[in-house]
Amino acid sequence: MKVTLISPYDDVTAFGVRSLSSFLRENGHDTRVILLPPRHGSPERRSREYDDRVLSDVVSLCEGSGMVGISLMTNYLSHAVKLTEVIRKKLDVPIVWGGIHPTIRPEESLDYADWICVGDGEDPLLEFVNTLEQGGDVSQTPSFWHKSNGEIQRNPLAPLRRELDEFPAPDYSFEDHYVAMGTSVQPLTVEIMSRFLFEASSHRHHGGIDYLTMTGRGCPHCCTYCMNDKMRTLYKGQKFFRWRSVQHLIRELEFAKEKMPFIGGILLSDDTFLGRPVAQIREFCKEYKEKIGLPFFCYCSPITSTEEKLGLMVDAGLTEVHMGVESGSPRIQQVFKREKMGNDCVLEAMKVINKFKDRLLPPGYDFITDVPYQTREDGIDNLKLIAEIPKPYRVKPFSLVMFPGTEIHDMAMMDGFIIDDRSEVYEKDFDDLQHNYLNLLLVLTRGGNFPSWLIKLLIRKPVVAALDSQCMKWLIELSFFSLRQFIRATHLFMRLGKLRHVKAPVAVEAG
Ligand code: SF4
Repeated sequence: MKVTLISPYDDVTAFGVRSLSSFLRENGHDTRVILLPPRHGSPERRSREYDDRVLSDVVSLCEGSGMVGISLMTNYLSHAVKLTEVIRKKLDVPIVWGGIHPTIRPEESLDYADWICVGDGEDPLLEFVNTLEQGGDVSQTPSFWHKSNGEIQRNPLAPLRRELDEFPAPDYSFEDHYVAMGTSVQPLTVEIMSRFLFEASSHRHHGGIDYLTMTGRGCPHCCTYCMNDKMRTLYKGQKFFRWRSVQHLIRELEFAKEKMPFIGGILLSDDTFLGRPVAQIREFCKEYKEKIGLPFFCYCSPITSTEEKLGLMVDAGLTEVHMGVESGSPRIQQVFKREKMGNDCVLEAMKVINKFKDRLLPPGYDFITDVPYQTREDGIDNLKLIAEIPKPYRVKPFSLVMFPGTEIHDMAMMDGFIIDDRSEVYEKDFDDLQHNYLNLLLVLTRGGNFPSWLIKLLIRKPVVAALDSQCMKWLIELSFFSLRQFIRATHLFMRLGKLRHVKAPVAVEAG
């Protein structure tokens, strides 16, 4: 049976959809993968909607499928709704939604989709497709929910697979893969893939193009704003935090390197790769150095960033790390349930990272702002911590998005901080910081060049009181406006520079 899997995400890596595609193919089904990055080619990225021609191409590509699956996160809901509507209008095919949004908002998702799959999708989806192909009754498929006579039928969750190695690596076959480009959907080739990755700043950590992968599922921590916490609750009593073996991962990277010779680096996008035991890190580093040998990037957490692990990784080619600091305020750390990763722990990890400054690019430190429980004091605490960070560094501030299903979302709902999910959560972009004085300072510290003494001066209480006031609002707005223009001009400049490079992967492919 042909199964069409659609990803509306901006990142054409689409790890989830590619993993499902591999798994279904391994089990004897044909799959077609359609990648629909809505923002591609649009200067006003957020407002980007699919072109009518793209939608009609999608419908044509879904013809003849026994099932259409759409994977979605909350902030892609409107795209999934649109796709579902146009496919349903033209084709009589079951439409299944999977991914994080249907998992946390199943009832709402069933207002649009015929079926939803809750939680990990591989095994339930295979059972659904097998049953459908044999003409059996799919209504009892574990993890699948649907509406029957207006009533929601909620099937129990399928058990989690303990061994991630039992799943194949994501599908990079480039066979029957399509991607939206401009106003049409075209077959995805290695060359087009290189172009997409080249243009995505998230894939450009080493001056070349990065291949992104995930080496595990879950996380040992339980931050109140994170979906991992919700997923762990969903699978209570089961082993939710799982790693792929080093051998499994290296095989994937070897394949990717061979298939896509343009790859210049590897991006390990697990939330905390260094959470692996040191013996595994050692094994990975040895294998990676021998068989892959490309510069690589990983995320780390303050708790697991030890000198021994980082030393091994740097020696194997690690060139950049990102760490979630999230808040410098002990009060907000409590709200986030990150007390174990308090300022002492964070600064200790930063010192360890700084020991490798001659061999690493400046590390990135993430901070979350616009927390409804945050006072001016808490905002000042963020900047106090930043003033203590050993240089070089970069700061990445994010505006808190309280996704449904997270603990902080429920708290904020109860406390009246969220009235309308759609406008205040679903459509919110974590890059859209509130325009206030302390956020402006956060943005100005991004490059890590702001002198610590100046930060300390600018967060003194009388200065903050004067500049964070209503009568200075115009100055703050003007500063944000100027910064935005500057960033746009820089992006445009970089984009023009990048486009000059785009031909390189073509030559590689032809060779
Ligand atoms: S450490 Fe990161 S991935 Fe883990 S729960 Fe916290 S935010 Fe989520």
